[in-house]
Amino acid sequence: MNTVIRARNLQKSYAGQRVVDGLNLDIQRGECFGLLGPNGAGKTTTLRLLLGLIAPDGGELGLLDHAVPQDARIARLRVGVVPQFDNLDPDFTVTENLLVYGRYFGMSDAQIRARIPGLLAFANLTAKRDAKVPTLSGGMKRRLTLARALVNDPDIIFLDEPTTGLDPQARHLIWQRLRELTAQGKTLLLTTHFMEEAERLCHRLAVMDHGKLIQQGSPRELIEQNIEPQVVEVFGETSAAWAGQHAAHYAQRFETSGESVFCYVQDAQPLVAHLHTQNELRYLHRPANLEDVFLKLTGREMRE
Ligand code: ADP
Repeated sequence: MNTVIRARNLQKSYAGQRVVDGLNLDIQRGECFGLLGPNGAGKTTTLRLLLGLIAPDGGELGLLDHAVPQDARIARLRVGVVPQFDNLDPDFTVTENLLVYGRYFGMSDAQIRARIPGLLAFANLTAKRDAKVPTLSGGMKRRLTLARALVNDPDIIFLDEPTTGLDPQARHLIWQRLRELTAQGKTLLLTTHFMEEAERLCHRLAVMDHGKLIQQGSPRELIEQNIEPQVVEVFGETSAAWAGQHAAHYAQRFETSGESVFCYVQDAQPLVAHLHTQNELRYLHRPANLEDVFLKLTGREMRE
């Protein structure tokens, strides 16, 4: 095992509030590791601490065998970052954005220019090489930000919500590219709100809330350890009344949310047979997924 990102008892507070609270993390080379959590859980702060962009109040951090934040500048030469919000330079073209960014890593223009055709092809932006940033679609800007993060051929790539705000087509293209990076042996650390994204891309995940990692494991392990294998979602105006009378009889566990009742069951057949007789209700029978785990661990109430 080759740990490339390591945190021990990491602490960070803002205005007396613990935003990162005793966090431990070991990420191995070649892994795609996902950090999940509701808004305000502390995910972005954790990424910024790991990159040495902000100083921790306590704990130890290592990034590629370098102590952080002390030697973060050296470590960051081998790291790429895709921030949550695109910060491309709007005055420059696609190619110029890659050139300017590469110079931050001490690369010569000749070195950067040698990499640009490959980066543009990877990002499906070859035809846009001379386009100014404001003329690009949201998906193209995200792909340029990803290409930019690869200019120094990093070993580790940090991605903060890489597909937020993208339509499904643009999202699928980013997913494909991230899988290619993992196949090349790069280490990926990403935050996301999309459980499907986490389930498809990540070898391991950690669910974070209130500054702490509350569970870690592969998507399959998290589902098996937390949730009954089958879910029946029951919808309709009378669903709450139905749940009051019948849900406990059929379901190992159930939760009501608005006009939906989520029934978690080992065997869905008796419940489904019963629901066939309930004309005013609709239902959806499906296998348990990561979103069920996430909602069980972090609750259904909104976070601002
Ligand atoms: P997440 O990425 O999981 O949504 P963040 O790490 O962005 O969470 O934020 C966690 C908490 O820390 C939030 O309550 C946020 O308001 C607070 N916070 C983050 N950065 C700062 C800062 N620079 N100053 C004050 N509070 C901050």
